[in-house]
Amino acid sequence: MPCPVCDTLERTLETQWKGMTLHRCGGCGSVYMDPPPTDADRHAMYDDPYQGASEGYYAKREKKMRRCAKRARMLDAYVTTGKTFLEVGSSGGFMVEAMRQRGYDATGVEVDKPGVEYARKEFPGCTFHNGLLEEVEARGDLGEYDAVYCSEVIEHVPFPDPFVAAIARHMKPGAVLNVTTPDVAHWNKPSDITKWNEFCPPSHCTYFTPKGLRGLFAKHGLEVFRHRFNWKAGIQFYARKIA
Ligand SMILES: [Zn+2]
Repeated sequence: MPCPVCDTLERTLETQWKGMTLHRCGGCGSVYMDPPPTDADRHAMYDDPYQGASEGYYAKREKKMRRCAKRARMLDAYVTTGKTFLEVGSSGGFMVEAMRQRGYDATGVEVDKPGVEYARKEFPGCTFHNGLLEEVEARGDLGEYDAVYCSEVIEHVPFPDPFVAAIARHMKPGAVLNVTTPDVAHWNKPSDITKWNEFCPPSHCTYFTPKGLRGLFAKHGLEVFRHRFNWKAGIQFYARKIA
C-alpha cells in the first residue's frame, strides 16, 4: 500500500518485528505498518482491560488535572471563534473537564469503554461518546467545534488521511487543532526504531515526521501555525482551519 500519510509509493523496509512489517516512506519519511492492523485488532487492544489504560485513569488525578489545565490555557489562547471543544481520544476525560472549566461546551470521544465510564461519572458537566471517531460520527453524535485536541492518538490510526479529514469536517472555519504524536524524525530518537520507547506496533502503527503531518494537515485545509520545541521525540502542532 502507498504511504498512509502522503500517498507516496516509494519506500524502504524499516524493520520486521514480531511478525509485523514496517516501511519508511520515501516521500515524507513516516514509518507505517503494511499490512495495517484491522479495526478488529484495534478494538481487541482496547477492549482488553489489561491492555487498556483504564487502570491508569484512577491514578495521579490531581497531577493530570494540573497538566491539562496548563494545556487548556495554551490552547484556549489561540481560539477566536467560540467556545465549543472536542477531544478525540479523551481517555479519562481530564482535558475535556479542563476545557469545560475554561467555559467551553466540552465533548470527548474515546474508544476505551472503561475510560468513558470513568469520565462520565467524574465529569458530569461534559459529554463523552464511546467509539472510534468515525463510529461516533456515523451515529450523528458530533457537531462543529472551535477547538479540537488530539494527543498521542493519531499514531494508533492505520489510515490517518480519513481520520484527519473527519476531524477537519467537525471544525468551524478558523477553529484550532492541537495534535501531539511521537516524532520519528526527531534528533533524540534512537536510530534503531525498535529501541525507541514509542515503538509498540500494532498499537502505534503510524510514526509521523513533522513534514508528513504538516502535509496531511494542509491537504485537509489545516495550516500549522506553531510547532512547539520538544526535547522528547514528539511533534506538538497547533493548526488552524483555513476559513
Ligand atoms: Zn509519506
